[in-house]
Order: sequence, then structure tokens, then C-alpha cells
Amino acid sequence: MRYQFPRARFVDTDPKFDERQFLAMKRECNEIKHAIADREIPDRILEEVFDLLHTCETFIRRKEEEGVDVRIMRVFVEQKNRERGYYEGEEVA
Ligand SMILES: [Mg+2]
Repeated sequence: MRYQFPRARFVDTDPKFDERQFLAMKRECNEIKHAIADREIPDRILEEVFDLLHTCETFIRRKEEEGVDVRIMRVFVEQKNRERGYYEGEEVA
């Protein structure tokens, strides 16, 4: 996979990685929610969105390092969304 961010040290062999990373993703979602609710400046909301992207990438990176073929799931999700007509300039099949 091609990642946006450098590899975080949290990817290493923590047996409770999934639970901790899930909590990190949930925390970042809450931070986005509060930033929007508090009508914070757009840069603050965007910062939280990038925080979430980073935590998601860390989860995906760990799965890839565990041997999961994450590219297949990425292709599956793109295909699913293509079929739903989510992409500009593409007709729904
Ligand atoms: Mg944050």
C-alpha cells in the first residue's frame, strides 16, 4: 500500500493493538465531531481529519504487516463505491 504518513511506532507487536487503535480512531472521530460542533476554524477541523486518516493508516499498516492482503480490500471498497455511483464522471453500471 502507499501511505500518506510515516510508519508510527504503535505498529509494533502490541498484542492489544486492535483495541488500542480502535480507541484512537474513535477518539479522533470525537475530536472531529467536537471541532465541527464548536464551529472551530476550518484548519482545526482539517487537522482532526488528518489525525483520523493517520490512525486509520496505522491500523491498515499493521494488518498488512500481519500478512493481510489489504490491497484486495482497498480494490473491493473502490469497486463497491463505483457501483454505488460515488465517483465523478462515471456512470453506475
Ligand atoms: Mg486529534
